[in-house]
Amino acid sequence: MEFLKANTKSLLDSGHEDGAFISAEGKDVIVIGGGDTGTDCVGTSLRHKAKSVTQFEIMAKPPLARQPNNPWPEWPRVYKMDYGQEEAAALQGEDPREYLISTKKFVGDENGHVMELHTVKIEWKQGDSGRFVPVEVPGSEKIYPAQLVLLAMGFMGPEPTVLEQLGVERDERSNAKAEYGKFATNVPGVFSAGDMRRGQSLVVWAINEGREAAREVDRFLMGSTNLP
Ligand SMILES: Cc1cc2nc3c(=O)[nH]c(=O)nc-3n(C[C@H](O)[C@H](O)[C@H](O)COP(=O)(O)OP(=O)(O)OC[C@H]3O[C@@H](n4cnc5c(N)ncnc54)[C@H](O)[C@@H]3O)c2cc1C
Repeated sequence: MEFLKANTKSLLDSGHEDGAFISAEGKDVIVIGGGDTGTDCVGTSLRHKAKSVTQFEIMAKPPLARQPNNPWPEWPRVYKMDYGQEEAAALQGEDPREYLISTKKFVGDENGHVMELHTVKIEWKQGDSGRFVPVEVPGSEKIYPAQLVLLAMGFMGPEPTVLEQLGVERDERSNAKAEYGKFATNVPGVFSAGDMRRGQSLVVWAINEGREAAREVDRFLMGSTNLP
């Protein structure tokens, strides 16, 4: 987020003239994390004119077509390229993602700047508890040169301060606990919507929940509501 936010702010403020952003120009960039935020990091690094961009994904490469255990209308868990990978493929000749890879070590130069990443390939194997766990593949160690490493490994849940101070109950994923459609938390007069309530999601959901939560707040304050 430090990378993406500063990039956009500097771009909008000054067309990058103020230099108030982390530049990927001329660097070997490694993005750790294969999700949407990782994709934005890939695309932004390429537009900075990075020397190379590689994206690490700990999961296996998805199949090209739906599997029997993933029928319609479920979300299709199939291989696809987002814009960041398409731009990388156009510039570098291939999808920048490395699958089933785990970073073991960051190595810095004498000034403490990252210089290389040491990795190992992994396999997902069923452990004693029945859950799949990553197991290192012997002999698969590799060293990647890297002068910029971007961590895009997932949303850790909402920041807790306000929720704790207000005494708002959390769900098992640490989000504010509130039923969709009602949006009321356990604290009277405190409502929750969007990523705070549902976890990391999309702007369309934030708009939907924001509007619906506004309706419920109106109902709470006025006793009835005309809002849709
Ligand atoms: C890198 C990245 C890329 C994404 N790309 C996409 C995309 O391409 N398409 C898409 O649909 N979604 C995308 N998302 C997800 C999308 O941004 C979120 O789902 C959406 O912004 C959630 O909206 P929200 O209003 O619930 O929360 P937010 O947008 O997070 O808004 C919460 C606001 O509350 C403010 N705030 C926090 N604490 C306090 C406080 N104590 N007091 C006052 N204000 C406070 C924050 O500063 C923030 O402005 C992306 C997310 C990330 C991180």
